Amino acid sequence: MSASSETAEQYWSWTKPEITSLNKPFWDGLKRRELLIQRCKKCGEHQWYARANCIHCGSRELEWVKSSGKGKIYSYTIINMVVGNSPIFNKELPYAVALVELDEGPRMYAMMTDCYLSDVKIDAPVEVVFKDVASDLTIPMFRPAKSQ
Ligand SMILES: [Zn+2]
Repeated sequence: MSASSETAEQYWSWTKPEITSLNKPFWDGLKRRELLIQRCKKCGEHQWYARANCIHCGSRELEWVKSSGKGKIYSYTIINMVVGNSPIFNKELPYAVALVELDEGPRMYAMMTDCYLSDVKIDAPVEVVFKDVASDLTIPMFRPAKSQ
């Protein structure tokens, strides 16, 4: 492991998400390169982030399903300065954080990667990529969708 990746490991060690019984399937899925979202067994709607009830009908009958990982940029912002001078994020500047609307409906915030800032536009098609940021933490990011 290089010195810089040790720094990354240390950084992510204090910013790690709180893993609970409710959201654990999501984080476990990322390690398997699967983007999991919840689907309501009663009304069929999808939601993200993890909740105990369906936000559409209130049912508690939820299941985890695999998202296509495809969607479009609903909104975004360009980050030009990092609060706290994190060396990990500072070296990424400037970068984009997008609010991605998945094909299944839910929206999630994520960093854009593998692209130029000029690629980041409202309604631009994107696809998920999985980034191992620590030995026990994988997070979703998005990049412009490859034309098929
Ligand atoms: Zn429902």
